[in-house]
Amino acid sequence: MKTVNMDRLSRYTNLPPAAQRILGRPEKVLTQVLNLLMDEDQVLETTCHLVCHCSVRGPAKGGIRMAADVTLDETTTLAELMTWKTALVGIPFGGGKSSIGIDGKSLSSFQRTAVVKEYVHLHSAELRDGSYVPAPDLGTNARDMAIIYGETHRLESVTGKPPSVGGLPGREEATGYGVALVVRLAVRELLGRDLQGVRVAVQGFGNVGSWACRFLAKGGARVVAVTDAGGGVVDEAGLPIDEMAAYAAETHTLAGFDRPAIDNRTLLGMDVDVLIPAAVQEVLTESTAADVRASLIVEAANGPTTPAADDILLENAIPVVPDILANSGGVVASYVEWRNAKSGSITSRQETYNTIGDRLELAFRQVMDVSGEKSVPLRTAAEIVACDELVRALHDRAWV
Ligand code: NAD
Repeated sequence: MKTVNMDRLSRYTNLPPAAQRILGRPEKVLTQVLNLLMDEDQVLETTCHLVCHCSVRGPAKGGIRMAADVTLDETTTLAELMTWKTALVGIPFGGGKSSIGIDGKSLSSFQRTAVVKEYVHLHSAELRDGSYVPAPDLGTNARDMAIIYGETHRLESVTGKPPSVGGLPGREEATGYGVALVVRLAVRELLGRDLQGVRVAVQGFGNVGSWACRFLAKGGARVVAVTDAGGGVVDEAGLPIDEMAAYAAETHTLAGFDRPAIDNRTLLGMDVDVLIPAAVQEVLTESTAADVRASLIVEAANGPTTPAADDILLENAIPVVPDILANSGGVVASYVEWRNAKSGSITSRQETYNTIGDRLELAFRQVMDVSGEKSVPLRTAAEIVACDELVRALHDRAWV
């Protein structure tokens, strides 16, 4: 997966060599083996990674990825993205990420609980001293976060908990809410339209994708195609998102839902107004980017576009709203949840939405302005805005 290109960035903003070195490598990398007797005859032996990329602006913040094929490289890149994302939206966190190398869907509920408890034992130092604050990511959910809280006995150890266990009303849907909000802003700014009737295709129908679809449909957009790991569906009249969510909750896929089928590759090449990759990294690559016919891409997933694909999309004049802006609603809500855990205060769902709106609209405006002033793509503009925050913090803490 790609990381921020420091050389390119230093052409546009003040990035001293010492800052480049600090931001160019993670502060802490832990790789540990998780051993667990799952059943009388079944032993689980898998690898867990924890990466704290940069803590200059606050504790390392970032989700837990649970997937059979997750790697250290992927975990490190995702941690780095969090450093830039938290700086861009101006919340007092650094960047971190952790991962558990197992397919959660292969586990019973009992086994899954045992795995999450073992994960806490492995990372007990960071979770208890607050230097790493996890949340859900691909393959993990609010219940997993509740288990982590139960093991650490500190509400501020983890965010994305269910509201019944110190969680925040609105956290579950926060990332999708933010994605829909950024789509609305980008459609207005870049396509000169409002959301009404805008045709959207979404890859991924998990937490982020399904909530983004709901908020977009509610805002007047027409979600015409959605895919997941197992398949997908298409309907020019607009898909019934709530029915699909109920179906996917039972079957774990959209495949077989009562609409014409569509595969992932075809979805990426659809002639829509907005394409939203909301599943995994590196889906828009050298081999798929040239097929994209959408007018605008909004990255709900982390790292869905490779640098080679970025170049192709730029050449084809298809703007890409970068992940660190588009999917930052979740970490903003996590910040509110973490703040509440520390202070004992309570926040309503609407207040959470308002905080996400304030942070993301400000960041969106800054990114648009820098993109215009310096004639750079939106990704570079977002990195410049975040970089200025990070360099300021490095100076203020006397790290450079
Ligand atoms: P999730 O596990 O809830 O859902 C993932 C979805 O992607 C599922 O529908 C799955 O079927 C689909 N998928 C998996 N592999 C696929 C493939 N190869 N092709 C097509 N679809 C595939 O995960 P999530 O929490 O919704 O996260 C999705 C993305 O958003 C990830 O990149 C994650 O890092 C990013 N993200 C999540 C959050 C959050 O709050 N959950 C916040 C910011 C960014």
